[in-house]
Amino acid sequence: MNQKSSKAHEWLRNLQANGYRATNTRRAVVETLANSQHALSPLEIYEICRSQHKRMGLVTVYRTVEKLEELGLVQRVHQPSGCQAFISAAEGHQHLLICQSCGKVTFFNGENEAMESLMKKVSLQSGYQIESHWLQLFGQCANCRDQT
Ligand SMILES: [Zn+2]
Ligand SMILES: [Zn+2]
Repeated sequence: MNQKSSKAHEWLRNLQANGYRATNTRRAVVETLANSQHALSPLEIYEICRSQHKRMGLVTVYRTVEKLEELGLVQRVHQPSGCQAFISAAEGHQHLLICQSCGKVTFFNGENEAMESLMKKVSLQSGYQIESHWLQLFGQCANCRDQT
């Protein structure tokens, strides 16, 4: 079993352990998201899955994605357009880079000194005690840059 399908397998086990039955349509949603390197909106997931599952419903997509988010397996990506999309959650403290052309998501480690000293500086200047932050960077990935 390759790494990709084992991730979907892991998610399904996790869902089942939380009382969520793995129907064919839910399984398709899980596999689509687990194997994607791109942030996908519920509508995009629905369209991908529907090609193989005629009985796929948008409600199933929403519910499954919500459940995966609740379990910390996927994370929400807020896009400048206001649309929301989902991607596999990163392990540890990671920040997101999102390509605005192709939607590819890359993570970079958020635990570094530059970030910490920036937070300290902002805290000192503002008087805030900063407890958490949410950082997503938008732009063009290396592939898309090559094409323009
Ligand atoms: Zn791109
Ligand atoms: Zn961070």
